[in-house]
Formats: sequence, C-alpha cells, structure tokens
Amino acid sequence: MDITRSFADAVGNTPLIRINTLSDETGCEILGKAEFMNPGGSVKDRAALWIIREHERSGALRPGGVVVEGTAGNTGIGLAHICNARGYPCVIYMPDNQSPEKVEILKTLGAEVRVRPMVPYRDDNNYQKKAGRYAASLDNGVWANQFDNVANRLAHYESTGPEIWQQTDGGVDAFVSSVGTGGTLAGVSEFLKEKNAAVRTVLADCMGSALYSYVKTGEATMSQGPSITEGIGNSRVTDNLKGAPVDDAVQVTDRDMVQLVYRLLRDEGWFFGSSTGINLCAAAMVAREMGPGHTVVTMLCDDGSKYRSRLFNAEFLAERGLSPD
Ligand code: PMP
Repeated sequence: MDITRSFADAVGNTPLIRINTLSDETGCEILGKAEFMNPGGSVKDRAALWIIREHERSGALRPGGVVVEGTAGNTGIGLAHICNARGYPCVIYMPDNQSPEKVEILKTLGAEVRVRPMVPYRDDNNYQKKAGRYAASLDNGVWANQFDNVANRLAHYESTGPEIWQQTDGGVDAFVSSVGTGGTLAGVSEFLKEKNAAVRTVLADCMGSALYSYVKTGEATMSQGPSITEGIGNSRVTDNLKGAPVDDAVQVTDRDMVQLVYRLLRDEGWFFGSSTGINLCAAAMVAREMGPGHTVVTMLCDDGSKYRSRLFNAEFLAERGLSPD
C-alpha cells in the first residue's frame, strides 16, 4: 500500500510536465513543475509547511499558538490548511490590491483575514510589518515571515530542487523562476548548482519590480509598471533571495504573459495563473537563447481559478489594453 496520511504528507512530489507547444517551437524540452497539484493549490504549500515545522522545532510555536502572516494569498492559503490540520488559529494580513477570490478562500478555510491598504514596504503600515507587530504582541504566536525566514528557501533546497534533479535524471540545463519572496529561485538554484555548477539559473521578472535590475546591475531599481501579475515581483532583496546563485534575469511584459496563458488554455487545456505565464514566457526566452536540445525547467505555480475576476475577465483585460488576440 502507498497511502498519503495527512495534508502535510501530500505537499510536494509534483509531476514535471512537458509544455508541448513551447517545447516544439524552441526545440528544447520546456518542463514545468505542477505546483498547482499541491493540496492547497500552489507552490507556497511547501514554504508554509517548512515554516510551520521550523517554528515548531524551535519551540516558538506551542500547541494552540497563533500563526500570523502577511501574504499576497497563496502562502496564507497553505498556512491556513496546515494550521487547521495542527490546531493553530491563523491570522492573515493582505494588501488590498489582490484578487477577491483569494480573500474568499482564506475565509472559507477559517483564517481571520485583515485586508490593509497597499503601501510600500518602507512604510510602517505595510501589511508585512503589521503582521510582524501583531505576532510580537501575542503570548503564543509566531510570524511566519515568508520573505525573510529562510525556512522558505530551505523548503525548495530540500524538496523542489531534488525532485527536479531526479525527474530529469540530472539532465536539467536551466532553471527559470519568477520571484516573490525568492524562496523558490534561491533554494532550487542552490541545490541544482551543487549537483552541477553548469546549470543556468535565471530570474524571470514581471514589470514594476526591481529584481531584473538587481540581477543585471547589483542595484534594485524599479522597472516601469504596473503589472497585473500577483504574488511576484519585489521592490527589495529579501533574506531568501540574498546570495542566491543566479546567473541572469529576463523581463516579461503582461502582454506576452496574457497571450501565452490564453494560448495554452486554448491549445493544450492548461489553466494557469499569471506567475506561471511569466515563468513560461521566460523559459521560452532562455530556451531560444541557449538553442535547441536543452532542457529548461520552470514552475507552474498555481492554476487560474483564483484569477477569474482579473486575468480571466475580458473587461478587466480590455480596460488595460491586454485583451488576448
Ligand atoms: N507565483 C505565485 C502565484 C505566488 O503566490 C508566489 C509567492 N508569492 C510566487 C509565484 C513566487 O514564489 P516565491 O515566493 O518562492 O518567490
């Protein structure tokens, strides 16, 4: 018998899927980790699980303790599931520029959601800082702190990286990933480069983010935005991203992302979210740069169901001049 015994045990070990249209067009194998098949529906289940385990192990999180986080949504969703399974109340601070679907899911899961106005990180009223202060005010409570808690990066070093290495029989030539906290890109890159220093690691940046410039110049300067993507892009270099062995960066526009997401839905039946669209556009760019015969791996971070009111809303796209052809 091969039985999965808990929510936590169902996290990870996702399939590695060949994206046929892009692979055929580039002459490379373009492969995506099906993170939308995690039990909470996104790549962030891994970070949520590692962060909670780390707080349990250190003794900071005791039975019945409150788990607090500032999150664009997916980390909160992963945390809310795991909190239910382990008996922790969950309080989520969210900026008010995220899709309403994510707020609804979090409430349905039983988390207390506190939506706050989106203000820059340097402002004391930023949702992440509010989460940190609230957690500090509690007797038995922890701040998950996904941006600077490197248990997040460790999740990908210990799970995603080894899975990719195994699933490609060590034949991966490049790894491409967008960055929110940087946990995915940093953890996977670190693992793959230890296995084979020649693996090319590339940051895929959306517009309105400072990470492309950080990789290219060493200075984090914001690019022209905005972007309708969610969960990715950053104005600062987090502790999870610092020191990550990243070779290069590419920038992807919302226009290209929307075109590809709709094309893959129409032609291959895949229903992907916006960060996955950015990742796949970038993977195709890297494949073209490297030339035919290479294996390029990226992340299929979540599916499109949380983005019905935006990415999959014709009016929303038309107002922004982003309607797919
Ligand atoms: N895609 C989605 C949909 C996300 O929610 C996130 C995390 N916020 C990412 C990509 C980026 O992952 P990471 O935080 O590991 O950089």
